[in-house]
Amino acid sequence: MCGIVGYIGHREAYPIILKGLKRLEYRGYDSAGIALYDGSDIKLSKTKGKVADLEARLEKEITTNGTLGIGHTRWATHGVPNDINSHPHYSNSGNLVIIHNGIIENYESLKKELIKRGYTFKSDTDTEVLVNLIEDVMKKENTKLGKAVQIALNQVVGAYAIAVFDKNKPNEIVVARLGSPLAIGIGDDEFFIASDASPFLEYTKNAIYLEDEEMAIVRRDKEVKIRKIKDDSPVAPYMQELQLNLEQIEKGGYDHFMLKEIYEQPRAILDTFRGRLRTNEAIIKMSGVEDNMKKFLNADRIIVVACGTSWHAGLVSEYIFEDLARIPVEVEYASEFRYRNPVITEKDLVIAISQSGETADTLAAIKLAKSKGAFVFGVCNVVGSSIARETDAGAYTHAGPEIGVASTKAFTTQITVLTLIALRLARAKGTISSSDYRHHLIELELIPSKVEKVLKSDDYVKTIANIYKDVKNFLYLGRGYNFPVALEGALKLKEISYIHAEGYPAAEMKHGPIALIDENMPIVVIATKKGHYDKVVSNIQEIKSRKGKIIGIVTEGDQQVKELADHVIEVPETLESLSPLVTTIPLQLLSYHIAVMLNKNVDQPRNLAKSVTVE
Ligand code: GLU
Repeated sequence: MCGIVGYIGHREAYPIILKGLKRLEYRGYDSAGIALYDGSDIKLSKTKGKVADLEARLEKEITTNGTLGIGHTRWATHGVPNDINSHPHYSNSGNLVIIHNGIIENYESLKKELIKRGYTFKSDTDTEVLVNLIEDVMKKENTKLGKAVQIALNQVVGAYAIAVFDKNKPNEIVVARLGSPLAIGIGDDEFFIASDASPFLEYTKNAIYLEDEEMAIVRRDKEVKIRKIKDDSPVAPYMQELQLNLEQIEKGGYDHFMLKEIYEQPRAILDTFRGRLRTNEAIIKMSGVEDNMKKFLNADRIIVVACGTSWHAGLVSEYIFEDLARIPVEVEYASEFRYRNPVITEKDLVIAISQSGETADTLAAIKLAKSKGAFVFGVCNVVGSSIARETDAGAYTHAGPEIGVASTKAFTTQITVLTLIALRLARAKGTISSSDYRHHLIELELIPSKVEKVLKSDDYVKTIANIYKDVKNFLYLGRGYNFPVALEGALKLKEISYIHAEGYPAAEMKHGPIALIDENMPIVVIATKKGHYDKVVSNIQEIKSRKGKIIGIVTEGDQQVKELADHVIEVPETLESLSPLVTTIPLQLLSYHIAVMLNKNVDQPRNLAKSVTVE
């Protein structure tokens, strides 16, 4: 995810773009850059760091006049955040310059082809491949920029919002979108381009939001022409009047980043799959795993090190790795592991999980494991983070920036990455049959739409939140794959509502927590059909006999739990191993609504920090 801004009109573009980038920094902030057309040439400046870092050096580097320009604030997906990988990117001739938000999945094969044709690349990004592909089409087909963009995008698999211009035709910017947002602000003889409308709110209230698979040629002093990328057919522009204020736009119209991020999960999980899950070919491709397959296959055991929500994702992975790939797993709190004098050998494979990639204890655990000769694999969200650099190999979650302190989309995308790895290893080891493997891939691909469906229960979850918002304690129970989900549900509630909550394996209830149950105690029980259902139903009976209030998370159409529970929230059926990806969602929503009803600071709960960089 990243923020893109562009301007073409009669004003100086630089201040508009700079201010716009600052407003879009919530979308990504690892590097930034601007390209301006000054009347004779392109002036480009870019740097690793925040927009403020760009501002500090930009005016020293280039002249900032010009009435056409584009700017970018990056959230790296391909290539670490550094000056070279920052956008905008030039084409080889230096005539074209592009900014891009998204992922070009087939960039490797396109790049190989372009290299054969004599193109060279400075950066590690997928974006630089795209701009050269466009240039190549322009040359080969002898076409103008707009047509070349259309032809090139038809060869691209992935997601994008792009803005590109040609210095030989400095009266237009070509934009296109598939899967990443792009708004065009319509002023008086001037146009604004941005990932959302926040960069141009003070200049115009009129905007066109491009739909997926649409592109537009934005010409100075002319009307915006929109066309379908696939077949070049014209699209009538639909202009909207903006009613929003700045803050609402940054949060995408949601009241809090946490809610926005909960709702982003279908997209985030899809982004985690992109280029990796290839159901049609029945393959999973993750270079970090492929390149180190021997290490994975020869490992005696996997040790997962993590903290907080990432530790819960690690716990889910214990079930997946053991169940599917038959590799023994130990899941460790990084802070305990690093000080315990643990037994680690060269035959161990350590997986370190951290959203930010900066978690101090996890980083220290990695260093310890490496010093003992273990191979360390990282699962992080932030590209180029310390953990990403410190580990021997890794896989990014590609969830986009997570701003809310209580982790949501990071959790589900971590589980997604770990599931992909487990399935890949299971296939390589032959511990899964090919039909079962295929079934898993198909079901995994359906998860984003199932998560989407669970999100529809939001209003109902809110009514439940309203009933229980004033209680002092909550209990969360689950078994098997859903035991870690119970822990995560309880953690979410604690973190943002400050209500005391405990997660337990459902059968453990009898060994202590059952003493807490009375008519005032709400108990969230994950009781989906696959996964020890009958046993969980018996646990529910035990709660009922003690008058506890039962909130069941059940499979669609369930009758048995419905009859016993006070409330049930339905989730679509999926494989047991994938169920955490759907059962987690109502628990996130429940904690969110309770916290809002209690007037708590949902995005920045007291005493917590987004990334824990101290031990
Ligand atoms: N894939 C591009 C990159 O890594 C764009 C990422 C973004 O959306 O910021 O540079």
